[in-house]
Amino acid sequence: MRRKVLVIGAGLGGLAAAISLAQEGYAVTIFEKNAHLGGKLNLHREGGYTFDLGPSILTLPYVFARLFERSGKKLEDFIALRALRPHWRNFFEDGTVLDLYPEPERMAEEARKVGEDPRRVQQFLAYSARLFDLINAGYFEQGLDTSGEFGKFYGLWKFPQFDLFRTMHGGVKRYLRTRYMRDAFDYFIKYVGSSAYRAPAFMNSLATIQFRYDLWYVDGGLYKIAGALQALLEELGVQVFLNSEVTAISKEASRVTGITVGGRFHAADIVVSNMEVIPAYENLLAEDEKFLQDLSRFEPSCSGLVLDLGLDIQYPQLAHHNFFFSNNQREHFDAVFRQHRLPPDPTIYLVAASRTDPTVAPPGCDCLKILPHIPYIDDAHPLTHDDYMAFKECVLVKLERMGLRDLRKHVVVEHCLTPPDIRQMYYSNKGSIYGVVADRFKNLAFKAPKQSTRYPNLFFVGGSVNPGGGMPMVVLCGINVARKVVAWDQP
Ligand SMILES: Cc1cc2nc3c(=O)[nH]c(=O)nc-3n(C[C@H](O)[C@H](O)[C@H](O)COP(=O)(O)OP(=O)(O)OC[C@H]3O[C@@H](n4cnc5c(N)ncnc54)[C@H](O)[C@@H]3O)c2cc1C
Repeated sequence: MRRKVLVIGAGLGGLAAAISLAQEGYAVTIFEKNAHLGGKLNLHREGGYTFDLGPSILTLPYVFARLFERSGKKLEDFIALRALRPHWRNFFEDGTVLDLYPEPERMAEEARKVGEDPRRVQQFLAYSARLFDLINAGYFEQGLDTSGEFGKFYGLWKFPQFDLFRTMHGGVKRYLRTRYMRDAFDYFIKYVGSSAYRAPAFMNSLATIQFRYDLWYVDGGLYKIAGALQALLEELGVQVFLNSEVTAISKEASRVTGITVGGRFHAADIVVSNMEVIPAYENLLAEDEKFLQDLSRFEPSCSGLVLDLGLDIQYPQLAHHNFFFSNNQREHFDAVFRQHRLPPDPTIYLVAASRTDPTVAPPGCDCLKILPHIPYIDDAHPLTHDDYMAFKECVLVKLERMGLRDLRKHVVVEHCLTPPDIRQMYYSNKGSIYGVVADRFKNLAFKAPKQSTRYPNLFFVGGSVNPGGGMPMVVLCGINVARKVVAWDQP
């Protein structure tokens, strides 16, 4: 008899875990509360425009490819990947524009344009690469979770190499001199929704993920990834139930025994939760206050205002990925991550997928997704819908000031998600968009472990467990969680 695994949630983490466990021979069933596969990897279509509602930057596609290779297939037979140039275009209030390129010669030109010594950029990237290689070997590839596992893999003598006594910004400042380069490289922290002034220096490894392994787009939009994974699930015989919210995980002593969906109990040998750790312990397992209090160091990452705009014109100055920087990025980070208020002058991420892909907007029109990072929901002092709408206006005014003239006059389609919408859609902790925050002082950027500390046959996958948020990381987590299940279940 094959052992039975029930997976709660069909986000990328849940799908990667389900696929990997099915490849190991388990009988896997997924229950997803929404009507689509992919969780935050999501799509919105309106009036001839197609928006990636969640992720828009694909990095480390080799991690996704592993899921297919294990079934003797190739990722590129399912989706068409395209490397983007430039990676990002960065706009500053004084009119400076800086592009990021992985090719050293092109990057050197950009560095000179803003008065930065190109050698410093390459030295910074070499530092980033050392950090990445260190972290990748154990934390990513081995799926390390506990201090014991870290000690065993790395040994004490390697800890100084993690640059533990600096913040991410401290690491950037050591190498780069101009505020343009500093702001741009600090903003790699966007990938995990945290603050460069509070994240540990080893988060500078994020630059290598992009500079060494490139930045990718999927033709037709990133949501195509969900379709590719669905084909693999079908091939492996994984059962998927959509519109099926799990309302409880049942437990007996130190084991979980199954889950409840629509009032019906489903027995399981093993449960894998793609619902985040804190909401799952709180709402599905009803754990005690003391236990939940211990989890509070796994504070949520930021949330976001997701604004999709279909325009009746194109702004040719935009690249595919763009950042419009705050005039004082320290204040931006401080407002979002320390004061938990809406930043008066935010750094804004803007995707114009229509720059690369003619299928996502009518001819001659731009399709924009605008995403400023904003605080997660403070339930004691929640912001109102009017607060979010006033902030939206402030974002549009800033974009108009920084070159998107008359932007508001050219909007023909508008769709907006606020943090309460995001929480309601994905049941993420306080509307978080990347899971747990990376904070040197709160958790040293570690997330919760993949195996429950209370119930050994309960596992977690996704942005709230190691190694954390971002598409490739949650997929890697799914692969590693399956290895943990096998190691525990078939010792
Ligand atoms: C606006 C936005 C922009 C982003 N940009 C990028 C980017 O450019 N690049 C990048 O790599 N990452 C990006 N991310 C982050 C990335 O999307 C996430 O880290 C990743 O997709 C999360 O996957 P997950 O499996 O952890 O969780 P989720 O995608 O949240 O999946 C969890 C699933 O569980 C379901 N669920 C929860 N509770 C229950 C329940 N009780 N019963 C049944 N189902 C349940 C939810 O409905 C959901 O489908 C972005 C995220 C957002 C929101």
